[in-house]
Amino acid sequence: MEPQGDLFESFTLRQLQDHLGADFEVILTNNRGTVVSVDRNRTPARARVSRIFNFADSETIRQLGLFISGGGRLPAVVKSFIHERAPALTPRRGGGACLRTKGAVYDLGPIAAKVWRRYFSGPLKTRIMWGKHPNPRPKRARRRSIRYGTYDRDRDLVTIHPALDCARVPVEFVEYVVYHEMLHKIVPPKVSADGAVRFHTREFKALERLFEGYDMLMKWQQENIWKSLASAPVRKSG
Ligand SMILES: [Zn+2]
Repeated sequence: MEPQGDLFESFTLRQLQDHLGADFEVILTNNRGTVVSVDRNRTPARARVSRIFNFADSETIRQLGLFISGGGRLPAVVKSFIHERAPALTPRRGGGACLRTKGAVYDLGPIAAKVWRRYFSGPLKTRIMWGKHPNPRPKRARRRSIRYGTYDRDRDLVTIHPALDCARVPVEFVEYVVYHEMLHKIVPPKVSADGAVRFHTREFKALERLFEGYDMLMKWQQENIWKSLASAPVRKSG
């Protein structure tokens, strides 16, 4: 939920409660599957209403109130509001339900757990997912390189390029890329005097070489990555 949700919440609740009167008790939920349900076997009757209605206008709330008290079909204005606002409940942090970890060949879940257990300490909180296949680009603007992975510090999220979800890429290489991205969480970037930000600092590179089989994997990468990815020049992960 948005941090400012409480403000909306009390307003929405009060509005809805005013429409319904004392015969109904309104409870806000995070439910996306059932955005509104009414239990009339209680006294007062209990309406469970999704928090997406925090963002509803007065008319939608009024119609929602009529639906809750009167039953029947969901009013069109409420329906269209739900369609429009359903993504507002998508978890932004800590959720993880919508992150795709299982690929066609590799499952990033166990891979991340293994790498974390081996090289880092404490509970694994960083989330991980396969990236989306990039849309084919027009020939002129063809990509000249790909990133194996990225680390998003704000979301504490590692994203791995889907081209690595391929049987010709050894699992050790996927593990190495996961390790590399996790290192970005541990080793902060350095800002030089001229304002340039460097992510692959000396410290970062020293730690990177601690990955088991690092030299071999770098060799494999140079020799094979073209065949595996069937792509234009590749640069090291970002
Ligand atoms: Zn990097």
